[in-house]
Amino acid sequence: MTSEGSAVVAGGGIGGVTAAIALRRAGWDVVVLERAPELREVGAGLSIAPNALRALDAIGVGEDVRAAATPSWAAGNLRLPGGEYLRRADPEHDTALSCFHRADLHRLLAARLPAGTVRTGATVTGVSTSAAGATVRYRTAEGEYEVAAGLVVGADGIHSTVRATLWPDAPAPRFRYTAWRGVTRPGSVWPEDGTFTFGPGAYFLAHPIGSERVYWALGVHADTPGVRYPDNLAEVRRRLTGWHRRVGELLDATPADAVLHNDINDLGALPTYVRGRVVLLGDAAHAMTPDMGQGACQAVEDAVTLAATTGDLAAYDRARLGRTRAIVSTARRKGRIAVSRSRLVHRMQVLGLRRAPASIVRRETGRVWDWTPPGTAEAPGGR
Ligand SMILES: Cc1cc2nc3c(=O)[nH]c(=O)nc-3n(C[C@H](O)[C@H](O)[C@H](O)COP(=O)(O)OP(=O)(O)OC[C@H]3O[C@@H](n4cnc5c(N)ncnc54)[C@H](O)[C@@H]3O)c2cc1C
Repeated sequence: MTSEGSAVVAGGGIGGVTAAIALRRAGWDVVVLERAPELREVGAGLSIAPNALRALDAIGVGEDVRAAATPSWAAGNLRLPGGEYLRRADPEHDTALSCFHRADLHRLLAARLPAGTVRTGATVTGVSTSAAGATVRYRTAEGEYEVAAGLVVGADGIHSTVRATLWPDAPAPRFRYTAWRGVTRPGSVWPEDGTFTFGPGAYFLAHPIGSERVYWALGVHADTPGVRYPDNLAEVRRRLTGWHRRVGELLDATPADAVLHNDINDLGALPTYVRGRVVLLGDAAHAMTPDMGQGACQAVEDAVTLAATTGDLAAYDRARLGRTRAIVSTARRKGRIAVSRSRLVHRMQVLGLRRAPASIVRRETGRVWDWTPPGTAEAPGGR
């Protein structure tokens, strides 16, 4: 095999693994280089929206992903810290999100790749490109290597080495706020089907993720990145004191060591995701705050679009730049409002959520969720 038909994917997260599946289907010989010693997702839960399900349909994995998903109506069940509902999901007209433990979704996708496709313990250290192809440098415990490829995909996350090498002027990730996440098994005390609770300066999200597990996330305003606490669960409880009963029940059921704390960052817009035969996708290209629930969904869209445009990478840019930029900036704006400490901003947000007609809310969501993969006349899997 010459390097012409071979693709190297840097990073084996959800974006990288999906790209590998999509490229293989398009006839590429693919290797994924992943720096972690084993292929697994860390983190808690994840929601996948209909746009990403359709992308997964286009590469033959949508059915399995749907079968493994747990529906969550959190996008429609909106509450205040006192428990009052601002809005309730209407299963007849609304669409559920498909929720997972990240590790479950990642495992399901990775299982579609033949053994040997992913090389773990392989850290990409640099990349160069020409019109004809590209070269990737990587390091393993055994030594340093170079590999030539007809296509290199930078799917190496928000702190991407591929981006740092070929996009030296790219803006650095920007800190936006901070978040805690947990996965718990609250058992029969949690009869709900997903909720979103909006308080001043904070939001609390809960999604069922199957096997009686619930994933929760707390996003809060923070002035400074990197501030850490000795007991994350105690810190979350402190911040949610007085919030409604369901929040307390989830926290009561959460083991202290099941709580993760991460700062939330995003990326400023890049002028292009393509340099010669190297492309960026997912968080490496357009990391966003989680406020649209679209980071992984957009990585999946990127992957499927890329597989359809490898012969004309400018088409990849045309298809992806505008859409992902718009979603990054909407997520940033929503996040800013959701964690704003201003009582006025919070009151305006609550007013908007309470008063906006359901048809308008659905139309807004539809702009993101109605995406169809390239070459698909209409959604193959529907919603
Ligand atoms: C709190 C929170 C909640 C979220 N919720 C959602 C949600 O509900 N729905 C949704 O769609 N999105 C959500 N997201 C966003 C989503 O997690 C990311 O957008 C998605 O995981 C990005 O996938 P990726 O494959 O592009 O990058 P990553 O998941 O970051 O994967 C990058 C991979 O590259 C590897 N790597 C890095 N550097 C190198 C190197 N030099 N060499 C080799 N390998 C390397 C890493 O080890 C990693 O495996 C959320 C994010 C956060 C923070």
